[in-house]
Amino acid sequence: MNKLSITDLDLKGKRVFIRVDFNVPIKDARVEDDSRIRGALPTIQYALDHEARVILASHLGRPKGERNEKYSLRPVAEHLSELLGKPVYFVGDCIGDEVKAKVGALKDGEVLLLENLRFHAEEEKNDEAFARELASLCDLYVNDAFGAAHRAHASTAGITKFVQQAAAGLLMQKELDYLGRVINSPEHPFVAILGGAKVSDKIPVINALIDRKIDKLLIGGAMAYTFFKAQGFTVGKSLVEDEMMPTALEIIKRAEEANVELLLPTDHQVVDSYDPLKSKKTIPVEFTNAGLVGLDIGAETVAHFSTALRDAKTVIWNGPMGVFEEKELGFDEGTIGVARAVAEAADRGATVVVGGGDSVAAITQAGVADRITHISTGGGATLEFLAGDELPGVAALNAK
Ligand code: AMP
Repeated sequence: MNKLSITDLDLKGKRVFIRVDFNVPIKDARVEDDSRIRGALPTIQYALDHEARVILASHLGRPKGERNEKYSLRPVAEHLSELLGKPVYFVGDCIGDEVKAKVGALKDGEVLLLENLRFHAEEEKNDEAFARELASLCDLYVNDAFGAAHRAHASTAGITKFVQQAAAGLLMQKELDYLGRVINSPEHPFVAILGGAKVSDKIPVINALIDRKIDKLLIGGAMAYTFFKAQGFTVGKSLVEDEMMPTALEIIKRAEEANVELLLPTDHQVVDSYDPLKSKKTIPVEFTNAGLVGLDIGAETVAHFSTALRDAKTVIWNGPMGVFEEKELGFDEGTIGVARAVAEAADRGATVVVGGGDSVAAITQAGVADRITHISTGGGATLEFLAGDELPGVAALNAK
């Protein structure tokens, strides 16, 4: 990585502003899933071990520029304190006199968490005066929030103009190293698996992957129906982006020209739209009639995709194969099946990178997380990086 790292900074006694991704689910003022907090621990611990005065800042949810207790980071301060085994001070804003006073009172090796950055509309607008206010709190800036690096916000981009040094945290560095290696020097066969709701969200990454000469592209989830309908198959009431059908045909053509094997599901789990609960069945894709809704790939497709991964040396996966959140009805089965298949590919020595909320949740649910080479903390950021875009939050960091 050609960006300055936290390990290049002289941290002792300095006020270090660390932009973290603490956008975690909170229920009844308790953190429900702390994986993002744990992800930032190495950087926080590194700064504490080097006697920095640590100021942590994050967004949480979408409070749309207004103070809203539902999105307060206060419960995160308590949770982080338990994880670090030391007090984590909290202040109910991220700019202003009270914040300045609390930062001024910080001693070497102490931690202060600021309130949700998005309680101020200026954060998402990358407002310069707001960025200056944030910068005035610190001497050094570290960005460890890879998941927010595709946004040019005040705390991810604007602030860097007004600090002495802007560096990547350890998690950010790890993401850039792994994803960079996958995209710049992948071992072949290179297989990409994409799923989720929309083709439109994934076009840049699909095109970039075809340009980078992946060997196979496996498409599942609702996305597949746009490809099927574009080719004249009946997809019933399954989710389709009609306006994306010409794009789907173009992708099929580009893949053919580039010698990329494009695999779509052969069977799927469907329900009758009039009687969804009782009618679940698995059928070949070409048997779909007008009243049916496809909600997951079938077991044959899972087997088919697993076979396609057999000789893979590099695998990237983003997006669920079906309506993963409908676990009671078993529409998570296809995604769990693919989670197991990518873990087996990793066991055979492939570099496997998984990103995106549902795919990562499936990896955890299938109990295979420790077999995956790299679980990315980004959703949109991972896709944009893999599509070859320079992320604003990375571009803004100082070069080494
Ligand atoms: P994305 O944000 O594009 O990764 O899409 C994730 C969403 O796609 C999840 O909420 C899934 O429920 C949804 N999804 C995946 N497959 C299907 C499907 N066959 N029908 C409807 N929604 C789906």
